[in-house]
This record gives sequence, C-alpha cells and structure tokens, in this order.
Amino acid sequence: MKNMFDSLRQIVLDVNDAAGLEQALNIVVHRTREVLSVDAVSVYFRDDKTDQLVLMASDGLNKQAIGNIRFDRGQGLVGLVLERAEPLNIDDAHRHPNYRFVTETGEACFHGFLGVPIIQHRQALGVLVVRQNEKSQFSAEVETFLVTLAAQLAGAISYAEKMGELNRLIEGAEGHSFNLQGLGGSPGVAIGEALVVFPPASLEAVPHNAIADDEIDGQVAAFLAAVNTVESEYKELSKRMAGAISNEELALFDVFALMLKSDTLIDVTIERIRAGQWAQGALRETIAEHVRQFDAMDDAYLRERAIDIKDLGRRILMHLQAQQTSSQEISGPVVLVGEEVTVSQLAEVPLQYLVAIISSKGSSLSHVAILSHALGIPSVMGLDSLPVNRIKGQQIVVDGYSGRIYVKPTAAVLAEFHRLIREEQALNTELKELIDQPSETLDGIHIPLLVNTGLLSDISPSLQSGAEGVGLYRTEIPFLMRDGFPGEDDQAQIYRQVLQGFAPRTVTFRTLDIGGDKALPYFPVVEDNPFLGWRGIRIMLDHPEIFLTQIRAILKVNIYQNNLRLMLPMISDVSEVDEAIGLIKKAHKELLDEGIDIPYPIIGLMIEVPSAVYQMEAFAMRVDFFSVGSNDLTQYLLAVDRNNKQVAELYNCLHPSVLLSVQHIVEVAKKHGKPVSVCGEMAGDPASALLLVGMGVDSLSMSVGSLLRVKLAIRSFTSAQIEHLCNDVLQMESAAEIRRKVNGALEFAGLGGLVRAGK
Ligand code: PEP
Ligand code: MG
Repeated sequence: MKNMFDSLRQIVLDVNDAAGLEQALNIVVHRTREVLSVDAVSVYFRDDKTDQLVLMASDGLNKQAIGNIRFDRGQGLVGLVLERAEPLNIDDAHRHPNYRFVTETGEACFHGFLGVPIIQHRQALGVLVVRQNEKSQFSAEVETFLVTLAAQLAGAISYAEKMGELNRLIEGAEGHSFNLQGLGGSPGVAIGEALVVFPPASLEAVPHNAIADDEIDGQVAAFLAAVNTVESEYKELSKRMAGAISNEELALFDVFALMLKSDTLIDVTIERIRAGQWAQGALRETIAEHVRQFDAMDDAYLRERAIDIKDLGRRILMHLQAQQTSSQEISGPVVLVGEEVTVSQLAEVPLQYLVAIISSKGSSLSHVAILSHALGIPSVMGLDSLPVNRIKGQQIVVDGYSGRIYVKPTAAVLAEFHRLIREEQALNTELKELIDQPSETLDGIHIPLLVNTGLLSDISPSLQSGAEGVGLYRTEIPFLMRDGFPGEDDQAQIYRQVLQGFAPRTVTFRTLDIGGDKALPYFPVVEDNPFLGWRGIRIMLDHPEIFLTQIRAILKVNIYQNNLRLMLPMISDVSEVDEAIGLIKKAHKELLDEGIDIPYPIIGLMIEVPSAVYQMEAFAMRVDFFSVGSNDLTQYLLAVDRNNKQVAELYNCLHPSVLLSVQHIVEVAKKHGKPVSVCGEMAGDPASALLLVGMGVDSLSMSVGSLLRVKLAIRSFTSAQIEHLCNDVLQMESAAEIRRKVNGALEFAGLGGLVRAGK
C-alpha cells in the first residue's frame, strides 16, 4: 500500500504544477488508472447553469464522450454520488437500481463502481469515478486513495473555476465573465476599464554579464544616472499626489527617497560592478538580496516592504535599459489593476479618472489600501488568483464593500451595479441633508456619532459630515508610514493638528496598538500566533520608553481646549491598567515639572478581549470610559481570524455571544456611571448600530463614510422601537436570524438602501 500512497503524493504535486485545469485532470485520470490498475477513471464536473454533471476527463472511456455525457443530479450512479455527497462503492453496478447504461461512452457493461464526490467549502463540485469491468468490490485503501485525491482536486478545481476556466471547458467558449473574491481594501462600488500596470522592467530576466575593466566606470556612471532619474521621478510623483493625500502619507515618498540613497543599495551595487558585473546584473543581485531578507519574514507588513524595494529596483532598471513607460491613453473611468500595485503606479493615473484599485497582493493594511481610502475610491486587495493577463482593457466592477470584483460583467450584473451606484448616489444626496441634523431618535434621544481615523486627510471630510468628534484615533498609522519610531516632537506635531482640527470636539487617542496584523517595518515581531501574542498594550508596557514618548507627545498638545481623551487597547488584565496608568501619571508629572501646564487626561479602555468583558467591575473603578473594539472582540469570542478569507463567513458581529457580551459591558459600565462607546465596524453598520443604541451604548464611532447612514437609521425610529427590537433580537439564537430581523425592521421603515452597505 505504501506505493499507492507515495504515488498519491506525487499525483497531487503534479496536479498542483499543471499548466491548467485540462492538464491537471488528464494527470489525474491517467495516473490513477495506472496506480489502481482499473478499467476506467473519469472526472465529472457540475455545470452551474444546468446543475448537471458533465464528463470532463477520462482514461478508459471513449474520448468523444468527453463534454457530451451529462447526468442530472440523482440520475445514474454518478448523479447519485453528487446528490448524496458521499462515496459509493459497489461490486455490481449492474444490479443497482440507479444503474444507467450509456452507449456513447463506448464502455462495456461495467460492474465494479467507486464514485467519490469532489467537495469544496461544503459544495459538491463534481464526482471522481473508477470502474472495473469485472464484478469486484474496491478495497478500503482504494477508497481512501480516491477520497484523498478528490479532496486535493477540489482546491485545484475551485481555483480553475475562479479563473473562469471551468466555464470555458464546459462550454468551449473563451472570454466569459467571472468574479473573484478578495479582501475589501476600502469601501464603495465603481465600474471602469482595467488599466493593468506591469512592472516596466523585469529584474528577474536580467542575465549575468561580465564586463571588462575599461567598462566599469561607464557602468557605474549609468547606474548613478538611473538612480538620480528615479529620485527626481519620485519627487515629481510626490508633487502630483500632494493635493490628494496628507503629509504623512506623502512621507512614503520620502521613504522611497531614503531607500534610494541608502549605502546598502548604492555602495553594494557599485561594489558589484567594480567586481566585474554589469550594472543591470549588479542591481538585480542587490535588490534580490534585500527582497530575500524581507520575504523571509513571516510578518505581512514587512513582506509589503519587499514589494516597495522591488518597485524601486525595477524603476532603476527601467532607466538603465533606457525604456520609458508607454503612457496609455486614458479618457474614461479607470480601474488600476496590478499584481503589486505600488504607490508610484497609483500616481501614474490622472486622479480624475481613477475610480478603483485592484491589487492581487497586499491586504487591507497595505499602503495602497490606506491611500485608496484617503482618495475615497473603492479597492480590493489580496486577489491571489487574479489572472492579470486576461484582465487588460476589460470592463470591471469593483465592490469594495464585499471585496469582490466582476470581470467582463454580464448585462445583468452590470445593470445591478449601475442600479446600486445610482442608489448609492441618490442615498448620498439624501444623506447630505442630514449633515446639520442632530443624531437623535424620533423621540429626541441624542446618540453622538464620532469618527474613527488615523489620517490627517480625514479631518475635513469628518467635519463636513457632521462628526461630533473622534471616537478612535488609530495612532499606529503615522508610525506605519515612518522609517523608525517617530520622536516626541514629530508625534506631537501630528497630534496637535488632529486636536486643533477637531476642537472643540473631543478626540480619543488610542495609544500605539501594534502587533497582530499591524506590524511596523522597523520593529519586526515574528510569532506563530500574532493575534494571541505581543500586541497593543503588552508591547507598550514592555517598552515603556516608547509608551512614555507617545503619552508625553499626546498630553503636551492638550494645552488649548482640553478636548483630549486617552484610550488603552488590548487590555486583558487589571495589572495592565494599573501599570499603564502609572506610566501616564509619570509622563504627566514630568511635563508639569517641565513647566508645561496641562490637565490630567480622561482615560478609557478598549474592551476587545473576552477576559476584559468579565473584569468590567474592576476596570470601572479605575477609568473614566469604555469603548468596545468589536472587531477584535468578535474575533476572540468566535475564535475567527478577522483577516482569514477561509473562515470569513463565520466572522459575524451579530453573533448572539457578541451581542450578549456588549449587553454585559453596558450594564456594568452604567452601574458605575461610566460611558460606553463602540468603535469597531459594528458601530458603522446601520443594523448593528441600532442594536447598540437599544442596548444603551452612549456613542458610536465609525469610519466617516458610514456616519450619515447610521444617522439616518437612528433618526427613523423611536427609542422605544429600538429597545423593543433589541429585546427581541437578544432572545434569538443565530446571527442570520438576527440579521433578518433587523434588516426587516430597516426595510419596513423605508430604509432598504441602508441594508446593502451592511450586507
Ligand atoms: C477593534 O478591534 O474593534 C478596533 C476598533 O481596533 P482595530 O480594528 O484597530 O484593532
Ligand atoms: Mg482592536
């Protein structure tokens, strides 16, 4: 048996290496027939449109039958396997009531039959079948072999299906529409033509080329000239972006400029040239060395830096090769598409035409996601199966809410998204009228709506949409955009702009919350379980010098309006609160001793770890307010990684356990007279926001784009109606039931347009 399973491993490896689905299937049928010594091996796929099984590949059956034999669900033995979604192993198929003899296959009347379903994400995609002409029962080992193979095949099929390849094979037609699921980078919906940005030059393709001594100086000069050109290009790009993005985002270009000037890039490359390598080859080796170092890191953020370095290398190479980027004609809405859309590529498209961004690499944390958010356009990231070559010039619908894109959308999809965009525009016009209206229920109960931000460029949109303050200022964003921990004055300068920009409204600064999915390029933390590891307050308490610098920077700018609140993230234990407060007191005293007369801050905690929910009593004695971080609280309560596509369907802030936790938090806080806010995504979804209001949450903090939607929902109900809805929902057992109930209430109140944004 060992041999059989050795072969299985090899088949799986070969299938993964196959150039396409067709080749993969042929490998499966030929090799399986060989290894199992059976009379026929066949693969059937389910055609979505007809719900029929279609014979896709076979070794042992008539080749003409491929693509032509079809079984309805439940029809024949193959259809039965699909219907039952279980293996079927029978020694004499002939005598089975479902047996159906098909002449087109050219098969003899077979007896031994083993069929196993090919299942991915609970859905039966097809059936893998082996047959024996003679009467014989397949052994348990053969069954195990086939079940394992089918499970591996499922991944390959669903990948191919995503690429539209399955449809093409089934229908024999090229160029079908298809859609792909990625990660929402920034919200919104847009339709435009794909502009694929390829790296202008391929470093990997540069050959090794030895040069003569008398060529060295010329090569060094060419290299330095290319570096200088790239440097001035970055300056130019930075100027073009200046109107659109804030200073700290622009600082990214300074990072590029710094990288360009670094000794490790220039000197090392020149050294290689002097050792007899031509400039292009020397550059390739230097960049590859840097990239290897970053790529080897487990940390997602650091891998992003490898992309920047590659981008830098390509740009230098492009000039070394004296190639120019052919500027493509742009005259309508453009969706920028790339494998690794970098900030400099983003700046290649005139901003008035740029409607969305798609990047096959990266996550919602990438710089480009942050920038697209700042530009107010939707983006979808992490589309690892993006067939970049087939997308060029195609029409694409980008849904930044769900992280899905539709390539060559069908007329129906297009019509639906045009309708959604129109509705969204109409809703936005309607919502604008609410800017100056109070956020209160029909019976006049006021629920302050605040914004979550971390970008200076959010200040004016926030004020323009009537935000009553900042409920969560994510201080890590300025840290992410730097090359090292910013100093006290550097930080203070940013914090001052935020405090003054929003004054007299309050601003809640969250102390640095790095770790987990938020890593700093210059502070690598490598862990097996980052979300359960060194995160937020844990890092700050272990590095009081970084914490104190930040606290001093925040406290010292609170000199004019006293509109500052301080908030501690990732609290899971009382001792962390005591220690952090000890450090805040120390920083405050130092500043007073230095003659800076600032008030002692209002201090609050984020409740985002389950242990904190159950220590509310102890916390309420120590701090002034609470804010529920529902993103992390949901992730930790449900044990679902908030960034993992595989389990995304399980991540749901309407899960009864999340709601019951919030209810408990509010109850204890109220008992102690301490206000509670919610600053996770839950506060920005009109449906869950209503429930939070019903539970007695005092204020809601959300991204600026959600503010008026939530205000509309609050203004459409009386507090009694909201409480009633909330009481009903708290009796329910599932998130789906809760979602239905609240969406129903929104629709009944004529707010169907709000349902979509919350999905
Ligand atoms: C949260 O966890 O809900 C939260 C607001 O913090 P972040 O999303 O920054 O982790
Ligand atoms: Mg959090």
